[in-house]
Amino acid sequence: MEKKILLNEKDIPTQWYNIVADMPNKPLPPLHPGTKQPISGEDLAPLFPMDLIQQEVSAERYIDIPEEVRDAYRIWRPTPLIRATELEKALGTNCKIYYKYEGTSPSGSHKPNTAIPQAYYNKKAGVKRIITETGAGQWGTALSFACAHFGIDCEVYMVRISFNQKPYRKILMNTFGAKVYASPSTNTQAGRNALEANPDTPGSLGLAISEAIEIAAGDEDTKYSLGSVLNHVLLHQTIIGQEAKKQLEYTGDYPDVIIAPLGGGSNFAGLSFPFIKDKIAGKEVRCIAVEPASCPKLTKGKFMYDFGDTQGYTPLLPMYTLGHTFTPAAIHAGGLRYHGASVLCSQLLKDGLIEASAIQQLECFEAGVLFAKAEGIVPAPEANHGIAQVIREVNRAKEEGVSKTILFNLCGHGFVDMAAYQDYFDGKLVNHSFTDEELTTAIKDIEALQPQ
Ligand SMILES: *Cc1c(COP(=O)(O)O)cnc(C)c1O
Repeated sequence: MEKKILLNEKDIPTQWYNIVADMPNKPLPPLHPGTKQPISGEDLAPLFPMDLIQQEVSAERYIDIPEEVRDAYRIWRPTPLIRATELEKALGTNCKIYYKYEGTSPSGSHKPNTAIPQAYYNKKAGVKRIITETGAGQWGTALSFACAHFGIDCEVYMVRISFNQKPYRKILMNTFGAKVYASPSTNTQAGRNALEANPDTPGSLGLAISEAIEIAAGDEDTKYSLGSVLNHVLLHQTIIGQEAKKQLEYTGDYPDVIIAPLGGGSNFAGLSFPFIKDKIAGKEVRCIAVEPASCPKLTKGKFMYDFGDTQGYTPLLPMYTLGHTFTPAAIHAGGLRYHGASVLCSQLLKDGLIEASAIQQLECFEAGVLFAKAEGIVPAPEANHGIAQVIREVNRAKEEGVSKTILFNLCGHGFVDMAAYQDYFDGKLVNHSFTDEELTTAIKDIEALQPQ
């Protein structure tokens, strides 16, 4: 048995997989907030280059990956699939546990899988500057790297709590040549409004998105870029699952359970969608998206039309949401502090093709530390949510007296998140739940937005 299953560069997928082609219920269209009519590609043109808009609305099953993008993917892909033999021993389980390790990328997570094609298509369209937001800093780092690779300017609005918690992320982005601002900032109306309402706000991804969109919409040479949620982002990430499938073919295994953390849904989609294709065709496989109990849109949110950002600049998206004005607790898994889930993941959850689980941060860090001691890799706090769910599934298999094959996404390493681990060791991290009343306040605000 091999510990690591490695592919060759020629095995890097040549196409992205678009699950829309196979979904039994197609996703509902994004709506214009004023007219409540489906938006057209042209409505998005001030923000995104046309190639990405076409991917956003495409129903083609496979979309070719440009040669320049595959060439850049070779910097770190294919990523290894690793059998978690040491974790299996530590847990005393006869389950087979595999993880796809996306932390081998230049920025340490799965995010460059979409940052590279997004920067490429912007460059091709003659865009000079890309503006984006970042939570924990993973996305901002990935886009900074991708912009450096293709020669485009990059500016990043970083959620203030993470800006303060993770100074090294900012320096990494600066190293790749990007400008970084704490969000809310005084550069935008959205930021100034938020600071006026609450000068001490920790910020949120939804708010940082508003800031980035506001600037991009007001400048011809500048486009906006999003690191999760949108269909084209999830599309780009499907190279993860396609590689994992090939790697598991080599071992002769097929997963019973697939697990990944979900912030907006991109790494979960990336690993699971190529397998959900099989599930739709009749194969049995459970796919579990794991969210923080302190930002429980999948397990406690509502499936409704809502804005993707706090200010209401985006189209209305049909998704599981806690309401765009919801500010998640200031937990360390910054990448999971987002009020909504991608349209594609939301529809699949509604249709019972995927499952959701919410876990408190102490259980997640305990799982992450156990994993680090066993396998030697310190996971990103977001990834710890997946590992905690893996342990739950192992315990469940033990109770049922069965052996399962479990595949999870180790979507990033935690080397730039050590302050979070320090807080955990110092006993400063607490579990956080919202009351049902707290969870309905922001949802009430969006009832009026629903189409008739
Ligand atoms: C961004 C990020 C997430 C959450 O985003 P998804 O789009 O749901 O994948 C999770 N883990 C890491 C390491 C991230 O960088």
